[in-house]
Amino acid sequence: MNARPAPEFPKWPQYDDDERTGLIRALEQGQWWRMGGEEVDSFEREFADFHGAPHALAVTNGTHALELALQVMGVGPGSEVIVPAFTFISSSQAAQRIGAVAVPVDVDPDTYNIDVAAAASAVTPRTRAIMPVHMAGLLADMDALGKLSADTGVPILQDAAHAQGARWQGKRVGELGSVAAFSFQNGKLMTAGEGGAVIFPESDLYESAFLRHSCGRPRTDRRYLHAVAGTNMRLNEFSAAVLRAQLRRLPAQTELRDKRWALLSRLLGAIDGVVPQGSDVRADQNTHYMAMFRVPGISEEDRNALVDRLVDAGLPAFAAFRAIYRTDAFWEVGAPDETVEQIAERCPNTEAISSDCVWLHHRVLLAGEQDLEITAEIVADAVAAI
Ligand SMILES: *Cc1c(COP(=O)(O)O)cnc(C)c1O
Repeated sequence: MNARPAPEFPKWPQYDDDERTGLIRALEQGQWWRMGGEEVDSFEREFADFHGAPHALAVTNGTHALELALQVMGVGPGSEVIVPAFTFISSSQAAQRIGAVAVPVDVDPDTYNIDVAAAASAVTPRTRAIMPVHMAGLLADMDALGKLSADTGVPILQDAAHAQGARWQGKRVGELGSVAAFSFQNGKLMTAGEGGAVIFPESDLYESAFLRHSCGRPRTDRRYLHAVAGTNMRLNEFSAAVLRAQLRRLPAQTELRDKRWALLSRLLGAIDGVVPQGSDVRADQNTHYMAMFRVPGISEEDRNALVDRLVDAGLPAFAAFRAIYRTDAFWEVGAPDETVEQIAERCPNTEAISSDCVWLHHRVLLAGEQDLEITAEIVADAVAAI
């Protein structure tokens, strides 16, 4: 055994006096909800501007952001929503929770993003939305998706839970012509522990979402004249104060993660049997929510053993998402009229990736270069030992 120093990674989440003063400001404001407070309103303006969108609505979490976005886009019972089969379960659960059928389609074996040809062949007269997920903040093919949307009339909803601050061909997420939903859960690129947001390219959807996220009640109502069906998805002032500080810190962190991923992906790519996640050259800003790589051909059991070895060696390593259709949850409500085997048959890349892919927490990408060299050595040793 050589004496290799353990790699050191920054903690996550991060905070400083900016969050501290924000929390005190919200506390002393005397209004702790968004009605009458200033933090949520300010955060929404700053977040919308940051993404080049005219409107942002802050909500309780990313899952609710997707549900609300789908709902105001007209998705409901009888609708189908096309989702990538390789994603966090919220992408499909959001559709299923509001009465729609979630139709999983395969992903690209290199970028792990939705396979647009597969999405095109899944479109039916009932399809009301196509939901690309920018996997780990590496953007889905927004050109092909835009064309598919124009050809079919089916709108796109970007699941941008991993993609705060991303850019495609010079355009920010809010400038791509579609609604996008974000998460601020504890591990995400900016966080208040929980939280979410939806950005809108135009006013009508935004106004409709505002009503529905606040019990269907118009902003100025004082007579309980609830205008539409809704629920309470309002974000509170403390969370918004924290998110304003997190947003200010994000650009420098994104720049560093981008630089570090360039190094780490090169080091990982040089390891026999390891293939790092690929990105589309047209994405000019990826956000690197996870450092993902595949060990093609490895069994699921061996992949899980590999993750254990990495964790034992000090890396924040995890097994990648399970195919959504291979969970019990997926089949409880809103599943398509197909069997697991039929879906698996048309999703060969998802089958492979969900059993051979590993990811490292993005705080790894905020570490020093030497720590990434050690990280790659640990991966190389662990893969060789499997
Ligand atoms: C985190 C995440 C969500 C859900 O966000 P929450 O804030 O945890 O509800 C949705 N989609 C994807 C791809 C995610 O990773």
